[in-house]
Formats: sequence, structure tokens, C-alpha cells
Amino acid sequence: MTALANEHQAINMAQGFPDFDCANELIDLVHKYMKKGFNQYAPMQGVIALRERIAEKVEALYSAVYNPETEVTVTPGGTHALFAAISAIVREGDEVIVLEPCYDSYVPAIELAGGRPIFFELKFPDYKVDWNELKKLLNYKTKMIIINTPHNPSGTILTAQDMLKLQKIVDKTEIVILSDEVYEHIIFDEVEHQSVARYPKLAERSIIVSSFGKTYHTTGWKMGYVLAPANLMVEFRKVHQFMAFSTNTPIQHALADFMVNKEAYLQLNSFYQGKRDYFQKLVKGSRFKVLPCLGSYFQLLGYQKITQEKDGDLAKRLTKDYKIASIPISSFYHKNTDHNVLRFCFAKNNETLEQAAEKICKI
Ligand code: PMP
Repeated sequence: MTALANEHQAINMAQGFPDFDCANELIDLVHKYMKKGFNQYAPMQGVIALRERIAEKVEALYSAVYNPETEVTVTPGGTHALFAAISAIVREGDEVIVLEPCYDSYVPAIELAGGRPIFFELKFPDYKVDWNELKKLLNYKTKMIIINTPHNPSGTILTAQDMLKLQKIVDKTEIVILSDEVYEHIIFDEVEHQSVARYPKLAERSIIVSSFGKTYHTTGWKMGYVLAPANLMVEFRKVHQFMAFSTNTPIQHALADFMVNKEAYLQLNSFYQGKRDYFQKLVKGSRFKVLPCLGSYFQLLGYQKITQEKDGDLAKRLTKDYKIASIPISSFYHKNTDHNVLRFCFAKNNETLEQAAEKICKI
């Protein structure tokens, strides 16, 4: 969709990235460390100062203690971390529960590891998990369940109740939870992010993935990290060591300094909530249905009242004819389930949101 958006000079609300820049201070810090000669390989696990800042943050926010030496690893982005985690745990014939719609990197990683994705659909239109139904899919072959909160593409979140239900269904099993929390700092309406780290019984079987790209408006830097208990982290690092060996050195030093300023991530919720509210207000008068967005920087718009076209066809037509690009939600399902919904990324300057909404209101 980004290629099509560029071809037709459409506003690109398809791919998830901000059209505004990161903090100057962060760029200055990277520059400083490059100039100071921090330009060679970092340790495989990550720069210790950064791992310490990460562990401190996680303890302050989620009351969970991760040892920076053995339980925190810095990675070249969240996607790398997801791939390495799946490769480390999943073996030929293992089953992995995947909640659809889902981020598109999970399934190829499972299949390349020889695993079998077992698909489970979130309930439309609020994309909630029916845990009783999900439980029926579990058996002795189930190796992993992948969860994602706040959720791409739907903007839904998992609640404390969800976490307790998950904890119950995996109790007395050896199932590993892969918890994709890359949008942990983009959650709205004063609701607290339910990291699996908050739940000791879940945390002891979980690999958590986070991304600096989302948190600091630096998706192009590809920086992320993983938290896991030492026994799982040992396995994770065996793969990470030979996929990347290590992660960008000067940026790690810069992030370690920058993380001291807690405001930069603590104010992100209200920053993006402002964008969500503004975009929702701007498109309220359109013929689209605004679906709830509780976290992430994606707004779903339903078009049942406008046309019966397939979402993929409509997304292409809107890009070509109305110069506004979105992502069809069917592309996040292996069977292309189509509820007539498009995803719009609102991590954009207000002017971009205004121009986009003007187009949306004409449809
Ligand atoms: N998980 C989800 C749900 C995402 O949306 C993304 C980014 N689109 C990632 C992981 C990957 O993050 P990164 O850009 O750090 O690889």
C-alpha cells in the first residue's frame, strides 16, 4: 500500500510510522556517541547501561524484577526479536496459537521453524478474546501462544481479566507465551498497560518484546528489546547471537542516556490520545463507522454503509481515486476474513490528519 500511495501521491495512512521527527536531543546523543568513537560491536546481549535502564523502567512500571545481565537483551527491532524468540522455542510439529488479525511476521517465523500456526479469531467488532473457546485448541503439541497488547491492527487491549484467564488456561502446561508489547506506551483513557510482566506466574513462562521505534518515533532505527526469565533468555540468545550478534552501538548508548528522562515515554499516551481524539473528531461526519481504539496508533474505520466491495479492492480504489491510503484488515488474516474494515495510522502531524479526514469525508 505504501508503494501504491507513493505512485498515486496519496496520503499514506497505511504503514505504521510517524510523519514527525524524534526528539532532537536523542539525535544529538547518537551523534555524540558516534563522534566519541562508540562505533564498534556492542556486547551480544546489549550495552549494559541500556539493559539496566530497561530493567529499572520495567520494575517501576510493572513491579517486575528482570536481571539486566541474564534477563534483558537489546535487539535490532521488535521483528527480529519475535523471529528469534519463535526460532528459539518452536520445533518441527509444534503448534503455536496465533490470534487473528495479527502482525504479519508471526506466521512466517512459525512456519520456517517447522511449527504449525493454529489460528484463533478475535471476536469482531471489539476484537475480544473468548478464552473458553481458545482453551479448546490447546493440547500436548501446543508450544506457544502469541499475544499482542495494545493490538495491531485492531487497537484493542488485553485487560487484567484477560491476563488472569490466560494464566488459568496455561497453568500446569509448559506453554511459552510470546507477548508482543511494542505499543506498551500507547494506551488511552487512563487505562494501565497489562504487561505479562505484572503477573509472576505468566512472566515465568513469557518472552516479552518491546520496540524503541514505537516509543521514540524512530521506526527506521530498528531498535528493540526482549525480557524473559533466564532459562528462556539463554535459548533466545542462542538464536540472536547468530541472527544479528549485536545491535547498533551508538544508538544503544544514546538510548541509555535518553531513558533517564521518563517523561519521554510517560507522556506518549496523552500525546497519541490527542491524535486519536482529533482524528476521530475529524472523521465523525463521514460515512465510515469509527471503531473503538483503546491503544496503538491505528484507527479502524468500517465501511458497511458505503459499499460491499472487498476491503482490499476498496483500499486500492481509495488510494488511486481519493488519494488516501489505508490497509485492508483482511490482510491480517490467513483466510483474508473481511469485515469491511480499513486501518488508518494516525501517527501523523495534525495537518496530515486534517488533509486525510477531508478526503475521508468525501467518500
Ligand atoms: N509487533 C507489532 C504488533 C508491530 O506493529 C510492529 C511494527 N509494525 C512490530 C512488532 C515490530 O517492531 P519493529 O519496528 O521494532 O521491528
